[in-house]
Amino acid sequence: MQEKGTISIHTENIFPIIKKFLYSDHEIFLRELVSNAVDATQKIKRLAQLGQYHGELGDVTVEVAFDKDKKTITVSDKGLGMTADEIKKYINQIAFSGATEFVEKFKEAKDANEIIGKFGLGFYSAFMVAKQVEINTLSYQEGAEAARWTCDGSTEFEISAGDRKTRGTDIILHINEDSEEFLDKWRLQGILDKYAKFLPVPVKFGTKTESIEDGVDDKGEKKWKSVEVDNIINDSTPIWTKSPSDLKDEDYLNFYKELYPMSEDPLFWIHLNVDYPFNLTGVLYFPKVKNDFEFQKSKIKLYSRQVFITDEVKDIVPEFLMLLHGVIDSPDIPLNVSRSFLQSDSNVKKINNYITKKVADKLAELFKKDRKVYEEKWNDIGLFVKYGMISEEKFAEKGKEFTLLKNTNGEFFTLTEYKDKVKALQTDKNEQVVYLYATDLAKQDAFVQSANKKDYDVLQMDSPIDSHFIQHLETKEEKTSLKRVDADVAEKLIQKEDTYDSLLTEEQSKKVKEVFEKAINNQAYSVEVEGLSPEEMPVTVTMEEFMRRMKEMAQMGGGMGFYGAMPDNYKVAINGNHPLIDKILKAEAEEDQAKLAKQAFDLALLAQGMLTGKDLTAFVKRSVELI
Ligand code: ADP
Ligand code: MG
Repeated sequence: MQEKGTISIHTENIFPIIKKFLYSDHEIFLRELVSNAVDATQKIKRLAQLGQYHGELGDVTVEVAFDKDKKTITVSDKGLGMTADEIKKYINQIAFSGATEFVEKFKEAKDANEIIGKFGLGFYSAFMVAKQVEINTLSYQEGAEAARWTCDGSTEFEISAGDRKTRGTDIILHINEDSEEFLDKWRLQGILDKYAKFLPVPVKFGTKTESIEDGVDDKGEKKWKSVEVDNIINDSTPIWTKSPSDLKDEDYLNFYKELYPMSEDPLFWIHLNVDYPFNLTGVLYFPKVKNDFEFQKSKIKLYSRQVFITDEVKDIVPEFLMLLHGVIDSPDIPLNVSRSFLQSDSNVKKINNYITKKVADKLAELFKKDRKVYEEKWNDIGLFVKYGMISEEKFAEKGKEFTLLKNTNGEFFTLTEYKDKVKALQTDKNEQVVYLYATDLAKQDAFVQSANKKDYDVLQMDSPIDSHFIQHLETKEEKTSLKRVDADVAEKLIQKEDTYDSLLTEEQSKKVKEVFEKAINNQAYSVEVEGLSPEEMPVTVTMEEFMRRMKEMAQMGGGMGFYGAMPDNYKVAINGNHPLIDKILKAEAEEDQAKLAKQAFDLALLAQGMLTGKDLTAFVKRSVELI
């Protein structure tokens, strides 16, 4: 039996197109061939289970091998095999709706996945690296004859009798000159590690021999013999395919180490398992957050029936969970279509919601089960939670229960607890509850202390996401506003009726203002004399909350060019009730007044970490003189 024929596609020759358009992803040919081999193996297993195959299943390991001299790569399976008719049906007739449409689609396709899935080109991806492809196969069906198919990458193929004696299929690729890089152990090993590590059927790569001790000879010398060792490259039952009740913490930790060998242990994990209304399994880990978390993004690996697809899970996992690690496996995610389609796909939306809900439930559970442990992990978890609160309405609903605020004493409060705590003392005359916060404990220490002196509580808001989180709190929490602790002098941070009266006369106030304006001599600082507690600092430099936020937004590129271009504008609050001011007024020489004023002002700058360079040097010199 020998037959020649033409592959029935309605375009001249698709192979040049395949080669030309799929160049970036050549390595996936191996994923396609190995997953076909796995499919064929699973099919024969199923047929055996159903009683439709009566032969011995035997060892069903899939084998990948290469021969550097012959320039071949071979993928062999002991799956269900194909008859000559099946080859014609499944391999030759590529079902294209039409040549024109095909070529059109090709032009728009951005990556190989898109094309391969859409047109069932899995097998043909072999021609990206091979100048000739051979199929040697024997079907499991009783009385089937072995068949051999060859094709040189044109639309011509040849089918003849084959010589395979046992059930299964060999796919032999005669590698082209441009692709000889694939005739390399490490290259192939690397590709298999990436795509085949968790395939559901054992996969063997090459043959590995090792010398082992084999007793001693007459002279008492050790004898050695060569044996073939097991070199299965995959774990065919990774933990996400198992039931959580069969797994221990150790199993999850070991799997994490296997996926991310260099990483610290994760904080906790979530085992995903749904089969309705879509199919999804997986394990998501909460990593310990490092500072360079941009770098840690894209760590979730996406699988489809245990075949690795991609680690670009952008549209499948909610943005705020992109920092998670782990594995998601779903045959229902349309892997082979364009991104814009993915975003509007209803399955993807459902998956997104499901993952969000699962993560929220897990956090709620952890919080309820052991609040102390949860608080200890808050530094790491907080980033996800805050990000989630800000960006996902669905998450925010649940997240209210387990979002924590941490104050400068290191105490934690839920949102409700915190409001109850500060309401009495920190409500201003407009009935607004004012939350105070510090972004830099070291720099803002003087202000934190002043606030504490008034029994105000101060929150720590020092993570990169906190400026957004603050805005979120203001919009979500009723009648609440947040102020950085250095937005004003403690006395005025929370405006109440009962302010101290200034001890100075109007004239004295005017004089003090003049002295300071002259001493400071800088447009960026506007001086105001106020009646504060004598306990407070004589001079305080602040930037008003609204102005500071605008400037911060402008710096982050928030498009607020107007505020960004504005010069810094600080308020210098002079505490008219402080004894030092009295001393300045009483100083005889104008020069002494200026010196004292400048000194007090510099001290205020120093407390803010704003005194640097020449000014700092001058300050030190002046201090020495004053002593
Ligand atoms: P898909 O895997 O999406 O069906 P492919 O182009 O990868 O598309 O394969 C086309 C068809 O060829 C498969 O559906 C299968 O029927 C057949 N086939 C490919 N490889 C094998 C194999 N190793 N054993 C048996 N059948 C195979
Ligand atoms: Mg396939």
